[in-house]
Amino acid sequence: MDITTLSGIGEKRAFTLRAASLNTIDDLLNYFPRDYDDRSQVRTVDSLIPGAVNTIRGYLSSTPENTNPSSKQRVGRTLTVTKAALKDSTGDLQLVWFNQPYLKKYFRLGTEYVFTGKVKLDYRNRLQMESPDYEIFNEKQLLTGGIVPVYTPPKGFSQKTFRALIMQALELRTDIDENLPLTIMQTYDLYSRREAILNIHFPVSDAGFIAARRRLVFEELFFMQTKLFKLKNQGELHQGIKLGGDYLDFAKCLPFALTSAQARVLKDIEKDCQSGIRMNRLVQGDVGSGKTAVAMAAAYLTITNGYQAAIMAPTEVLARQHFTDFSRFFGIHNIETVLLIGSQTAKERKAALTQIATNPKLMIVGTHALIQSGVEYSRLGLVITDEQHRFGVHQRFRFIEKGLAPHTLVMTATPIPRTLALILYGDLDISIIDELPPGRQEIKTYHVDSKYRDRVHGFILKEAEADKQAYVICPAIEESEADINSVIAYTHELASKLPNLTIKYLHGKMKPGEKQEIMNCFKNGEIHALVSTTVVEVGVHAPNATLIIIENAERFGLSQLHQLRGRVGRGDAQSYCVLISDAKNKVTRARMTAMTKTSNGFKLAELDLEQRGMGDFFGTRQHGLPDFKIANLYRDMNILKIAQTAAEQMIRGEITISEKEKYVIESQVLATAVL
Ligand code: ADP
Ligand code: MG
Repeated sequence: MDITTLSGIGEKRAFTLRAASLNTIDDLLNYFPRDYDDRSQVRTVDSLIPGAVNTIRGYLSSTPENTNPSSKQRVGRTLTVTKAALKDSTGDLQLVWFNQPYLKKYFRLGTEYVFTGKVKLDYRNRLQMESPDYEIFNEKQLLTGGIVPVYTPPKGFSQKTFRALIMQALELRTDIDENLPLTIMQTYDLYSRREAILNIHFPVSDAGFIAARRRLVFEELFFMQTKLFKLKNQGELHQGIKLGGDYLDFAKCLPFALTSAQARVLKDIEKDCQSGIRMNRLVQGDVGSGKTAVAMAAAYLTITNGYQAAIMAPTEVLARQHFTDFSRFFGIHNIETVLLIGSQTAKERKAALTQIATNPKLMIVGTHALIQSGVEYSRLGLVITDEQHRFGVHQRFRFIEKGLAPHTLVMTATPIPRTLALILYGDLDISIIDELPPGRQEIKTYHVDSKYRDRVHGFILKEAEADKQAYVICPAIEESEADINSVIAYTHELASKLPNLTIKYLHGKMKPGEKQEIMNCFKNGEIHALVSTTVVEVGVHAPNATLIIIENAERFGLSQLHQLRGRVGRGDAQSYCVLISDAKNKVTRARMTAMTKTSNGFKLAELDLEQRGMGDFFGTRQHGLPDFKIANLYRDMNILKIAQTAAEQMIRGEITISEKEKYVIESQVLATAVL
């Protein structure tokens, strides 16, 4: 049913609705309120609460009068003031509207109305209700009585007209289709879709609203989980290259013994690779837990079986670092390593592409460049994505889109709480490296305000005198806002303060070559302090750095602060992290305290999620997180668990569903976008 079937919707209004993707009546019904006003409490004149929104019922005791205040008396652009009075057994109330002269003709003496609006005292201390919503009193009481919805109306619609439109849609569409199987609704005690839609718009009671929301959240998560399970099953059906051999051969060449967590994860990987089914595994491990060694071992296993292995990093800085490390290790085994990144010269690129297309026994290191068109692989057996959270999740599927079927290993240092990982990566198996290599000292973390900045800078000098190095992180590149430290200005300031030290800066807008040179100098110990934006956030490994100072620490999320802190403490020496922030806000202070008290990335991630919600968890939306209509993954964790169980039961055939129900579910799942 098209929206034009609604009365009051001509072509012009239909156009604005369509612009907001509201094409049909069902679209309207699925456009949920963003909030609610509780107008269920109807008051009498003597019980009105000044300063608050009140609802009152009564007869008009005077016909509305329009007046036009002289320009001197006008407040803002008020041209017409409409006044009327209401009387009940307890007293009188003045009603006032601005610039709605037509109201004069709307109201009739002797008719009973309901009004909802803010009550104030006028200059003579009389009660006055300003610009109230109004409605003729009848049994329904949907606009002014009860719990009324608050929408984000499309442009050109007032709250009131949009509300009335939804009302009309609900009356017209009495037969809202069910899309969940009956058995599931019974088992999990869920409202029917019809009841839920009615109550999400105009809840009959608090309980009605809660049940409606629960049902709709369940529905959303249920279809998503079903889709993820299906993806996973599909993956399992895919044949994978069978890899024989033992990663332990490789482990012998490492300069250290694997931690038991690393060994356990490698066992998982080995089992996957031997199974004949394509591996699809997420390796989660806190900063510094040694994911690179795991990646190398998996790559080694693949290449010694006569297949290529590729590792994709989110930044060129990290890709180059991996290239150095991988070349060194694979060189020992006479295995070639090749680098493919965007900033290479045409000649370098051509040489790399030829290698990739012709050498089936090759270690490939690169950035996004690896998934661009024009890259032809020869027997690609394994793809590793490093720091997965920095990529759009869908990029995982790019290799498969290229018609390749390599084993997939996804690595992330963002310690995603397990429940959330299941949603984000539901089609992946998960292994966790929950142990740091031995001998790591805890990074001593402090929070200070900017009054201590001089002393903190003295600390840089002290570390430099001990032949150690420091990072300083600033949120901005150039000066833009007051109170926000910027890399370039800060570098100059620091250099004049500490004239005997070599101080350089690094930021994302520099040319790749420049960035690389600075990074190399820093790693070689030629720079005492590196002032940088968050470009060093992921993966960068410079074990001689022992101090990281984070300016405007309030600007960063906990997970990000933790990642940044992970840049130090990578060698044997005691390392330090100093958070500088003047923010007085309670939540921010709690975040700083959490950083000083906790070194566990998982705990910090949970906290971050709790405080900032999903949207901010990974910094931005860009990371391909699913966008939910009504579910809130943090608050709705319980419903998620139920939805997950239900989806699993259904997929396993443990729940009886009719053919028709099956069909409905399939079309819903098809329409569900994941990641
Ligand atoms: P991340 O998990 O953050 O990617 P890396 O793989 O970069 O961590 O490892 C961090 C540092 O720890 C590297 O210097 C690496 O050589 C070292 N390392 C990794 N595994 C071990 C181990 N089992 N014993 C000692 N050092 C290790
Ligand atoms: Mg790493």
